[in-house]
Amino acid sequence: MDKAYNILLYYCYTPIDDPEAFREEHHLYCIENNLRGRIILAKEGINGTISGLREDCEKYMYDLKADARFSHIHFKVETHHAHVFQKLHVRVKAEVVHANLPHINPAQKAGKYIAPADFKKMKDEEDVVLLDVRSNYEHSIGKFKNAITLDIDNFRDFPQKIDVLAPYQNKKIITYCTGGIKCEKASAYLLEKGFKNVYQLHGGIIQYGLMTDGEDFEGKCYIFDNRLTTTINKRNPVVVGKCHVCHTPCDRMVNCANPNCNIHVPICEACAKELDGACSEACQKHPARRAYDGTGYYTKKMYGYNPYKFLYVRPLMGN
Ligand SMILES: [Zn+2]
Ligand SMILES: [Zn+2]
Repeated sequence: MDKAYNILLYYCYTPIDDPEAFREEHHLYCIENNLRGRIILAKEGINGTISGLREDCEKYMYDLKADARFSHIHFKVETHHAHVFQKLHVRVKAEVVHANLPHINPAQKAGKYIAPADFKKMKDEEDVVLLDVRSNYEHSIGKFKNAITLDIDNFRDFPQKIDVLAPYQNKKIITYCTGGIKCEKASAYLLEKGFKNVYQLHGGIIQYGLMTDGEDFEGKCYIFDNRLTTTINKRNPVVVGKCHVCHTPCDRMVNCANPNCNIHVPICEACAKELDGACSEACQKHPARRAYDGTGYYTKKMYGYNPYKFLYVRPLMGN
């Protein structure tokens, strides 16, 4: 398949003095370079996932790194045959990832980075504990073998759940998440709470999949673009998800055909066919149910989407 597009996943904790002003400039830049996706800006930094033609993505990475504030940014780069987002959103928020830990500055102190190749060697060591800091809907479809998971629906609940780590005070704790950003705060928080040996998988599961054969990542990695999941393990893959309907092993993510439900859950081909792509009989009967084409993915309606809409400064046309 043609791989003319890139998907970028990145973040950087760095002070942005005037995120509103930067948002204007950055939003316009992304439009002009045909980039789509979601970018969050805050006084503490940037967090983004975007898609675009390879040359546009390369220009984006070059230009962002050229800005001294972002010179230490790290990009995870995947290839694809198309855009994986339909729209562009550049937003200003209080935190780049909602953790309820605004007082923690990972730029000052966080867990030591572990490169993917080193992670692969360390993960089976006796004194190492792997901690998945992602939410239920993410680790239910895939996680590292033997990793500790937390019963959370949102990362902001992470601080309340670290009691499960009490038996591992003297172990090396390696945190991991999709692209690394949550681990910056999670690992810093663990250090604050008195854990001594805290590490974080640098670049997260995505970078591990790019730099290694993906050994021992069980299931699929949940992602936040229209692919829904991505394959990490090329060495010893297994299925960990269960069909939402019949509970047989399944990691085929489906977006429920009822737009008012819209959940992302694993549903096997047979059940999805039976229920016309819905997650339940109730959803199947819903009058707004979308036509199921066998993929379980629905193109979002654009509703007169205009990427310039939220810009205060309109671009100069026809110069
Ligand atoms: Zn099923
Ligand atoms: Zn449903």
